[in-house]
Amino acid sequence: MSQQTVSRRSVLAAGGLTAAGAVGALGLATPASAHPTEPPALTPTSALNRLLAGNKRFYKGDARHPHQSMKDLHDLAAGQHPFAVTLGCADSRVAPELLFDQGLGDLFDNRVAGNIVDDLLLGSIEFAIEEFGVPLIVVLGHERCGAITATVDVIEHGGEAAGHIGSIVAALRPVVEPLVGGPGDVVEAGVRANVLAQVQYLLDHSEIVQEKVANGTLGVVGARYDLDNGKVILL
Ligand SMILES: [Zn+2]
Repeated sequence: MSQQTVSRRSVLAAGGLTAAGAVGALGLATPASAHPTEPPALTPTSALNRLLAGNKRFYKGDARHPHQSMKDLHDLAAGQHPFAVTLGCADSRVAPELLFDQGLGDLFDNRVAGNIVDDLLLGSIEFAIEEFGVPLIVVLGHERCGAITATVDVIEHGGEAAGHIGSIVAALRPVVEPLVGGPGDVVEAGVRANVLAQVQYLLDHSEIVQEKVANGTLGVVGARYDLDNGKVILL
């Protein structure tokens, strides 16, 4: 992911890096001890590497829990400079600040079961990148996602999800349905396909995202969180 020329293709191609490879090859990991109120003078690549370095600390049991003191709270009261936007699942086990070992003021989180972009969330994401100049959006799916599982159940067994859960199933159905009956674990395939579909949705439906990606000030990546070992991999 070049800083100067982040084309749509290269943004997606950046997802081919492994977590370890991205940090190791680029060597741009930023210390977690950076002051929380400093402006986010980060490129998309350096923001990604900061996240992946934090995830590595987390899954290795070396989390530093940065930017969580009362001093940090007071320093941030007057303003925020988050360095990444997340679009993640509401699942209680997939808390971005914990799994990326970040703290107050670091991440602009958007969470909904199934990590689905709709108009409201698109507005929330655009607000963050316009208002704060955030250089990176991460769409974060996770292993054994209940929203994907519920969608598979409805497709395989018929019926309807209860209440407004049906809205989530309806949103995920076009992504998941083509995978049902295919090889391998359909929920896992659905998790991965949904992350990539939401990345593409952001690129296709937001002129603000398109403009910033084209001028190299914004990266959009998809990732999967492993419930068993705590690792985030890029898709
Ligand atoms: Zn989930």
